[in-house]
Amino acid sequence: MQDIIQLHDRKFRIMIPAEKIDEAVTAVAERINRDYADKETPLFVGVLNGSFMFMSDLIKKIEFQNELSFVKLASYEGTSSTGQVKSLLGLNGSIEGRHVIVVEDIVDTGESIEHMLRDLEARRPASVAVCTLFFKPASYRKSYPIQYRAMEIGNEFIVGYGLDYDQLGRSLKDIYVVTE
Ligand code: 5GP
Ligand code: MG
Repeated sequence: MQDIIQLHDRKFRIMIPAEKIDEAVTAVAERINRDYADKETPLFVGVLNGSFMFMSDLIKKIEFQNELSFVKLASYEGTSSTGQVKSLLGLNGSIEGRHVIVVEDIVDTGESIEHMLRDLEARRPASVAVCTLFFKPASYRKSYPIQYRAMEIGNEFIVGYGLDYDQLGRSLKDIYVVTE
């Protein structure tokens, strides 16, 4: 692995090596395995694009029968007072009565996950939980509980393992942090 990499105009330095990520994914998968062992075919819903690598590694460690799907949050300028409206694309079929686990790359302010959860709750699932690879406790501004947090970080900007800087860096197997 390289210690310093350049993506577009910024330099990033190594922060979390792949082995540490794997340990964190294993630990969170073990918790989910315990909590959902007796639930009827839970449904994992990954949020594209950022969660693809996390989902791929997480799901291999899940020991109960499950289903898996991916969604995308599309932003467009709406007519509401807030201006920004986000809609959920790709969730076809009913989730009524299902146990849903949303898989995210990172929860920062909580804005995106709030839109997701509102939309999902309206579809009357039996339960909804959030499993995020990274959580930024200092920037989270919402009250929705984030049940499964593989790792917590400060307010720094990171890339790698699915996370991008203007589309670059998603394929890196380690996590890098932006330098000043
Ligand atoms: P939120 O809506 O919780 O503020 O932010 C969620 C989204 O912002 C994430 O899904 C991700 O796309 C982006 N984001 C927030 N923090 C970071 C970060 O440190 N690195 C990258 N690559 N994206 C981030
Ligand atoms: Mg995301």
